[in-house]
Amino acid sequence: MSTLRLPQAVYDQIRAHGEQTYPHECCGALLGRSTPDGWQVHSAVAAGNTRTDSAHNRYQIAPLELVRIERGARRQGLDIAGFYHSHPDHPAQWSTTDFAEAHWLGCSYVITEVAYGKAAVTNSFLLAGATEEDKHFEPEAIQVAERQREASRNS
Ligand SMILES: [Zn+2]
Repeated sequence: MSTLRLPQAVYDQIRAHGEQTYPHECCGALLGRSTPDGWQVHSAVAAGNTRTDSAHNRYQIAPLELVRIERGARRQGLDIAGFYHSHPDHPAQWSTTDFAEAHWLGCSYVITEVAYGKAAVTNSFLLAGATEEDKHFEPEAIQVAERQREASRNS
């Protein structure tokens, strides 16, 4: 099982984002570096949910916004580690729509249940598989660190 590592501030940020957009879904991208056993996330970028038709149970990041996020990541020497969104009054489990619309193989998909406006359970799923045809979600552990180890290197 892989592990998604998040600084406490980023973990709090993505959960708070879900409370802000409640009863609609929030969404955004996670930037970080890959490690042998999962992603080390450095920051989260909030995105606008372009699904105005069904924003309570759908999310979508506009392609142009995604390009901007990807460029910003590269400038910082980071990759897109994954994506996050919220499930207003629904469990933090991926839906068939989430699966159908997930195409970033090797990336983490983080889902936060927001119950009655308060962030509840947060889960992460790794989109595993070598091709779109055999892709599948694998549950992964979330490790929240108070302070990143790298910060102590004074770099
Ligand atoms: Zn979802």
